[in-house]
Amino acid sequence: MQLQIEGINKELQNASVHEVLKYFLEKYKDRVSLSSSFGAEDQVLTDLILNIDADTHIFTLDTGRLHPETYDVMDATNLKYNTKIAVYFPEASNVEALYRTQGVNGHYESIEKRKHCCFVRKIEPLQRALKDVDVWITGLRSEQSVTRQQMPLVEYDEKFKVIKVNPLIAWSEKEVWEYIKEHNVPYNKLHDQGFPSIGCAPCTRAVEEGEDIRSGRWWWESPEHKECGLHKGDKHAKRDR
Ligand code: SF4
Repeated sequence: MQLQIEGINKELQNASVHEVLKYFLEKYKDRVSLSSSFGAEDQVLTDLILNIDADTHIFTLDTGRLHPETYDVMDATNLKYNTKIAVYFPEASNVEALYRTQGVNGHYESIEKRKHCCFVRKIEPLQRALKDVDVWITGLRSEQSVTRQQMPLVEYDEKFKVIKVNPLIAWSEKEVWEYIKEHNVPYNKLHDQGFPSIGCAPCTRAVEEGEDIRSGRWWWESPEHKECGLHKGDKHAKRDR
């Protein structure tokens, strides 16, 4: 698999984002998915992807703790593209157990509790969403955080057993916003209120001008811990296949 990934990275090293997407959408047609949190990058990819193939599977993880503005952009996106982005919720019994063991906001008390909440609300639903998928498209960009700086365009994700494609990995924030404005793409209004990165409401806050893009996510933790297990090794994440 590693050789295959290296070959694809070489083949696509000078390709545009559009060409990268076309390559995977054609080659893996019904086995490719975009995961969207309705952030700016995901909205760019949604626009590009649905213009290439309107039937492409796009999904989101509704953790049950999202901002109202995120639901607004979810509706606006479905309306603009005449689609219904798939929604994966956490298992109700897992959320009930989470509440019994660590209460409503136990995620503030320790990294372990925070990761457990992320596992129940994000990782387990993501495992289900990716179960029948060969290629997982993400909106990651290398300049977003220290944990993303070394990410390649295409990699094999051992945890979820899928080829992971990061078409915007080399894009700047400026390029993302130029695309959104130029193509009139719906976006989360929290971006206008100082939120460059948007996740769950209790774990996301606005940042000051010049502050790190991801500093508003899990702001009480150090930068190397600032992933929820979706994009970095997580001891909780196992996959049944
Ligand atoms: S981001 Fe916060 S609220 Fe959302 S799943 Fe993780 S710990 Fe829980």
